[in-house]
Amino acid sequence: MSLLLTREEYESLSNSIELPSGAFIDGRARVAASGETFETFNPANGQVLNRIAACAQPDVDLAVEKARDAFDDGRWAKRHPTERKKAMIKWCKLIRRHRHELAVLESVESGKPIQEIANVDLEETLHCLEWHAETADKIYDETAPAGDDAVALVVREPIGVVACILPWNFPMQMMAWKAGPALAAGNSVIVKPAEQTSMSALRLAELASEAGIPRGVLNVVTGYGESAGAPLGLHADVDMVSFTGSTEVGRKFLEYSARSNLKKVVLECGGKNPCVVLDDAENLDVVAEHATQAVFWNMGENCSSNSRLIVHRDVKDALLERILHRVRDWRTGDPLDPANRLGAIVSREQYDSILNYIEQGKREGAELVLGGKAIEADGGWFIEPTIFDNVRPDMTIAREEIFGPVLAVIVISGVDEAVKMANDTNYGLAASVFTSNVKRAHRVARAIRAGTVTVN
Ligand code: NAD
Repeated sequence: MSLLLTREEYESLSNSIELPSGAFIDGRARVAASGETFETFNPANGQVLNRIAACAQPDVDLAVEKARDAFDDGRWAKRHPTERKKAMIKWCKLIRRHRHELAVLESVESGKPIQEIANVDLEETLHCLEWHAETADKIYDETAPAGDDAVALVVREPIGVVACILPWNFPMQMMAWKAGPALAAGNSVIVKPAEQTSMSALRLAELASEAGIPRGVLNVVTGYGESAGAPLGLHADVDMVSFTGSTEVGRKFLEYSARSNLKKVVLECGGKNPCVVLDDAENLDVVAEHATQAVFWNMGENCSSNSRLIVHRDVKDALLERILHRVRDWRTGDPLDPANRLGAIVSREQYDSILNYIEQGKREGAELVLGGKAIEADGGWFIEPTIFDNVRPDMTIAREEIFGPVLAVIVISGVDEAVKMANDTNYGLAASVFTSNVKRAHRVARAIRAGTVTVN
């Protein structure tokens, strides 16, 4: 099946598909116990898109109860691992069959360009789910050293009920990253999508049910963080939380755990990631390609976006010229048009926040060399790819995560200064280094305090 349709075909699909709106609990779609809904918007035109069940404590309690029942009676946890694998693989086949519909659902609620969803998000979602499905009957337990009179086993067991709290920037992928391994291991899962992007999660859960993943095993509670996320974090019968989102809210999940049952919490939070380019970096065309992609991909709404370009003064002008040349080719506009590489910003709040940061960059004296404005189109929330040169490390745009298409160029004169600058941040998620000297590459990669460092 072709990965991409035409603009007209996507448009027609978006007018004909049913938009899921009910929470998915115990194998079926439901309205919230209160009957309340909240509005979601299409970022490409600012119009109301859907009204989704506004879940709160009673809905979370029901979802946890059903997930716990499913876990305790072993309908999934005790199913033969090969059978769990088969159900998950069937789920993937259904996702593939419904790929265009899922791509449209994700695009119209997030503003993401459809070509990115089709080529990257969906492929990565499938890859992740298939990979974890395959592990279900291939991961072995271990035998630990013990005397002749004992057998000591290290056994891998599902933990129980796992809550997966998702951000809005990669909705399907994030669901796959969390629910994939949890389901393969036999857990019951409750997904809480970001309030801006619930529909792809709801549709994925329906397809899981159709594939034979039993009711109660994969649930989706929709709603706002305070009303649907916090009750999951505080619930005494949730055994683990896997969270991706802002540092501020990640911190809250640690508090929720401390205040409730000390549930295990895994956090993936924000970043203000450096891309370090040293004076001996070879082939600036290749560096420019990476640097452009790393900051502007997904409109910069990317936790590992390389939003700080820390570049040696001897190569800065040549590199910046190449980046400017490339980014001018990135068309911004209607997310359903496969020719567009950049779509709309996910929400009015995020759009305002990014524009505020841009104004702050101008006020604090950074040199605007590209973009810097909203793009007026159909009432949508579009922003030009924006580059500030000569950014000082104390400026707000060098310190705070903007989560938008804004690059801060910081000039350095040597390797030690580059490392110092890279580490001058409260974050530590990802980093990139470009150099042609292998020794330097290792030294700098080790000296940068980040979870993942890529070289060249
Ligand atoms: P967010 O923290 O605002 O929201 C994330 C999730 O938490 C949402 O589902 C939201 O409803 C929920 N939530 C919000 N307030 C809550 C509360 N008080 N209690 C319980 N739940 C609550 O993040 P976002 O705006 O959706 O996503 C952007 C952030 O996510 C950025 O900071 C970005 O860096 C980060 N992110 C990190 C990664 C990573 O892999 N490290 C990946 C993607 C996004």
